[in-house]
Amino acid sequence: MATPELRGKRVLVVGLGRSGIAAANLCLRKGAQVVGTDIRNAEQLGQSLSALDAGVIRDLAGHDPAHFAAAELIIVSPGVPPIAPLAAAQARGVPILGEIELAARFVTAPIVAVTGTNGKSTTTSLIGEMLVRSGRSTFVGGNLGVPLAEAVAEDRVDDLQAVVLELSSFQLETVERFSAHVALLLNVSEDHLDRYPDYASYLAAKARVFAGQTPADFAIVANDRDCLDLAAAGQGRTLPFGLTAETAPPAGAWLTASEFVLVGLSDADHATERYPISALRLAGRHNQLNALAAIAAARLFGASPAAVEQTLREFAGLPHRMAHVRTLDGVDYYNDSKATNVGSVVGGLAGFERPVVLIAGGKDKGGDYRPFAEAVSAHCRHVVLLGAAAELIAAALDDDTAVSRATTMDQAVAQARQAAQLGDAVVLAPACSSYDMYENYARRGDDFARAVNAL
Ligand code: ADP
Repeated sequence: MATPELRGKRVLVVGLGRSGIAAANLCLRKGAQVVGTDIRNAEQLGQSLSALDAGVIRDLAGHDPAHFAAAELIIVSPGVPPIAPLAAAQARGVPILGEIELAARFVTAPIVAVTGTNGKSTTTSLIGEMLVRSGRSTFVGGNLGVPLAEAVAEDRVDDLQAVVLELSSFQLETVERFSAHVALLLNVSEDHLDRYPDYASYLAAKARVFAGQTPADFAIVANDRDCLDLAAAGQGRTLPFGLTAETAPPAGAWLTASEFVLVGLSDADHATERYPISALRLAGRHNQLNALAAIAAARLFGASPAAVEQTLREFAGLPHRMAHVRTLDGVDYYNDSKATNVGSVVGGLAGFERPVVLIAGGKDKGGDYRPFAEAVSAHCRHVVLLGAAAELIAAALDDDTAVSRATTMDQAVAQARQAAQLGDAVVLAPACSSYDMYENYARRGDDFARAVNAL
């Protein structure tokens, strides 16, 4: 892909989170004149601002229209909503790129791109581990860990064999020529409806992961109508993955009761390979699906079967994703703070065969809580509601669901302990973002773990 000519160009970077800062530094190092702007002031941006190169001109606590007027190229961060000055610049014909589009133009290694509503970080990490254990030089990052622009700016992706990226819908909105050799769409369900006008717009952003693919590329896609339809817009070879289908297509990846089965991944002779599900250390059907997709991607990138199986055995999961915190009085406490939408809670609860006392709530994202209420009815002894969305969630729950309300995490944990019986699980799985009470999901999860350990 041709790299953009940045030397001497006037570039405006809108949004100075970690990836915006990385994009600004990247442009500066490629010889551009860079202005970085953010609606937040220096104090709100905090310590992270120290990573911004001194040569970047700062326009904080709002956006000076003069910088938009002067810009020859605008880089927009994924967190920035469609604000008026951006629309005006676009109408004037100023090119607007996202951080991923910008950074990917400097990447020569083949890319694995992972998207979906849930399971992205887990799947991205699994693929990365499988490749690294196979001795492949690999970068793992994007929406998870190190932003791609940061890695490019620091020359960390030169001469690699694989670049594995987790990509959010926000990041995908602005890709144009971005092309992944293997693109994964893990699942879709309602999320971020506080940002998108409707569900179709959210899905359209996700589908952009396939837009730049050629017939030589692969699309690993959940075997359901929504996901397959989204993949059909791209030119890559579609490999469905999912639960065993009665009429499985000739190529794809499937779960049987005991095995991961992969058929005809890269060749036409439909070779089959199998891995034992019992090898997978992660719990839950949803993680079996994540692992299945990861195996398919890693094998397409040349991971060895031995490294694949070793990764399944050893990968213990990421923090804040159904992480076991403590056993107290015969009750297990789990931190699933990363469950920030309804689909992730439904997926997480399905993994429990014992009664769950659930702590849920936070900042609402505009989705439908009915699937949540159904999962609660099927799995939960009691629900503790916490945070801004409590009444909205309460209204969706069945009348016979036992509910209590808390205003602090300590109260919530104390109520959950009270409600739990021997052998139960207490799970923090909010179905909401954390921004009503916390800086991010990790802080919320840490606070839960602190409260549990203080019992
Ligand atoms: P993401 O990066 O997409 O947010 P994570 O791997 O961080 O995904 O997991 C986020 C949450 O979603 C966790 O609560 C996890 O238990 C749940 N989850 C993971 N994979 C799936 C899946 N395939 N379906 C539904 N929920 C899932």
